[in-house]
Amino acid sequence: MSGAVRTTCPYCGVGCGVLATPDGKGGLAIKGDPDHPANRGRLCVKGAALGETVDIAGRLLAPRIGGQDAPWGQALDLIADRFTDAVAQYGPDSVALYVSGQLLTEDYYAANKLMKGFIGSANIDTNSRLCMASSVAGHRRAFGTDTVPGLYEDLEQADLVVLTGSNLAWCHPVLHQRILAAKAARPGMKIVVIDPRRTATCEGADLHLAIAPGADAHLFNLLLCHLFDTERTSADFLPHVTGFDAALTAARAASARATGLDPADLAAFLDLWAGTERTVTVYSQGINQSDSGTDKVNAILNCHLATGRIGRPGMGPFSVTGQPNAMGGREVGGMANMLACHLELENPIHRAAVQAFWTAPRMADRPGLKAVDMFRAVEEGRIKALWIIHTNPAVTMPEADRVARAIKSCEFTVVSEVWPHTDTARLADVLLPATAWGEKDGTVTNSERLISRQRAALPPPGQARPDWWAVAQVARRMGFQGFDWTSAAEIFAEHAALSGVAGALGSDFDISDLRGADYDTLAPIHWPQGPAQQGGRFFGTGRFHTPDGRARMVPVTAALPAQEPGQMLLNTGRIRDQWHTMTRTGLSPRLSRHLAEPYLELHPDDAAGLGLSTADLAQIDSPQGRAILRVMVSDRVAPGHPFAPIHWTGQTAPSGRIDALVAARTDPVSGQPASKSTPVAITRH
Ligand code: SF4
Repeated sequence: MSGAVRTTCPYCGVGCGVLATPDGKGGLAIKGDPDHPANRGRLCVKGAALGETVDIAGRLLAPRIGGQDAPWGQALDLIADRFTDAVAQYGPDSVALYVSGQLLTEDYYAANKLMKGFIGSANIDTNSRLCMASSVAGHRRAFGTDTVPGLYEDLEQADLVVLTGSNLAWCHPVLHQRILAAKAARPGMKIVVIDPRRTATCEGADLHLAIAPGADAHLFNLLLCHLFDTERTSADFLPHVTGFDAALTAARAASARATGLDPADLAAFLDLWAGTERTVTVYSQGINQSDSGTDKVNAILNCHLATGRIGRPGMGPFSVTGQPNAMGGREVGGMANMLACHLELENPIHRAAVQAFWTAPRMADRPGLKAVDMFRAVEEGRIKALWIIHTNPAVTMPEADRVARAIKSCEFTVVSEVWPHTDTARLADVLLPATAWGEKDGTVTNSERLISRQRAALPPPGQARPDWWAVAQVARRMGFQGFDWTSAAEIFAEHAALSGVAGALGSDFDISDLRGADYDTLAPIHWPQGPAQQGGRFFGTGRFHTPDGRARMVPVTAALPAQEPGQMLLNTGRIRDQWHTMTRTGLSPRLSRHLAEPYLELHPDDAAGLGLSTADLAQIDSPQGRAILRVMVSDRVAPGHPFAPIHWTGQTAPSGRIDALVAARTDPVSGQPASKSTPVAITRH
């Protein structure tokens, strides 16, 4: 291969375009793609270091059965036999797939089709459950469909950008750079950051509201009341909305005191938001990863619906996804409670249409197990055969130690991986060598519904194969028709054709125009397209996907995380230069220079009370697990709310398998775990 290959970054949901040029020795030179609309040539440090992460030393290069290399055919036969036997003996719900927002859309499509249409169970869930499930649920409650209304350019066109529960500067750096560039060009634009921590994102902000942890719904309920009391609700838009009175009544119970904010700062924020028509409210894991995450999402959506600030240039609520293809996964329905193309699993007409399109013998007709419940079912022996694709739940799931034990105890576990040494790969009965970024071909959808090609710039090493191929091979060996694809392009064409069926049923997601597109040269493209959808935005006309066409405001009872006096609640999150469990970013020496080891950021008052200083080792215990972390004393965190990053997996001190500490406490609507408020005890190690 020679010449620059136009592809996309495999990390965050910004979805930056990358030019990857093979050096002829197995390496890649990396540049930002100046023609990609998401980044216009920019890359953050993680994207820029991609060329340092493509060395194949240590890669999994052949299938392994019981730790021994084996031919692909033998591994695939074994998987098909064990899944077939489990289904025959215990029924379709005795098997499960756990997949990933790192999968390409075509991989996701194949896995979803196999489970929901052919095995006949919806037991396919994804690590997106840990990431965006509360946004999905909030969107569906309010809009009738899981649709992000706006575009990145809205963040540049806004007069006010509110970032809540989002350390955008570290977690979505290029999008943050775009906002800062817009503010530099138009200094009147205001940025407000709402976060208990004083993060790097605060540096470019006009106002930082160091809100009490978990008090977001209080704040946005107060805002709703303020909008009503100051007559800032939209008389033009409210006819397109139901539930205003009930939402306002519930909001009246919100407490300014609960927010922990200085009254003057709170008043300034309420006035600024109320008085600025072009407002975008960006939110991410600080909102979603909560046991009331869906309510928090709806508290935000309520304010935008009450003012009609949605689906028009420079305004709207904006959920930014953590992963490169969390949106593509949602499009193919790769979650346990979704169907495909934004159709509904519970709707018999939708099910019948998808079944007819797939010529599927056995459609799932009820939601499957969401991630936390899935691994509980594994633990209890109800899941007999489990296939984990491109993710590392033995580290990333809450109660990770328990999840690792559950996987180990499962009768039959398959893991598709790039590396043989991950915590999850080590637990597999069968390991399948997967292609990695740089070798994979397919599409991804970023946080603004932009579909982009990811292209191979390097040949697959050894016997590594795409995930869609492995899924299709197993499906065929299980005796199923409809898995004869020979390329990702054929799967994309099928996916696009199915979206036409969905579009005819009223789904937002209709990309059927792309089914005949030249896949090789496919340029980044938003869905929807065209003037009917206002150039890629949704809901500005006031038409929603509910039965009566109106949006639903949801009454939200604001809550706070339970906290005993003197108790520490551990907050968790990403750092700037690492990605998930570091299996890729950990290969780059320069990325490890930023923060070299797992740490606990501790407020000076807490540190003094515990007799700890910077560089000491602290032992952090919860009922679920233990970590040993290097102390970093800092007033960037609030007293009683220390912070630890999620990335490290090591077993020797300092060791930071943080999700081993986190309890599997979930939002009752979305099933998303509350990863940011775990009660812990901290002592000197
Ligand atoms: Fe990759 Fe996100 Fe950085 Fe863009 S901002 S280069 S998508 S990690």
